[in-house]
Amino acid sequence: MFAESVTDLEYDVPGDEPPHRCPYCDRPFRTEEYLHYHVGTVHDEMCTDEEREVFEAQREDEEFELFTFHVKAAVTVFMTYFMFTFIYALVWAG
Ligand SMILES: [Zn+2]
Repeated sequence: MFAESVTDLEYDVPGDEPPHRCPYCDRPFRTEEYLHYHVGTVHDEMCTDEEREVFEAQREDEEFELFTFHVKAAVTVFMTYFMFTFIYALVWAG
């Protein structure tokens, strides 16, 4: 599994922050999101339905965010294009 190939260094957590620990392998995580992602991918076979639901919901959120990002990017490109056309038209008209 891909999460297993990540070195232990990636899991280092600053001491002042309370780490979220994996209930299955005791690995610390910076955020609850990382922990849910880890449980949903690495401990897919043994995690509870509740944990799986949290993971699925989180993954859907990320997909939605990615979709929103693409829409924003498309609108930005369109607006830039429109602006340049508009300025060009103004220059022509003048
Ligand atoms: Zn684990």
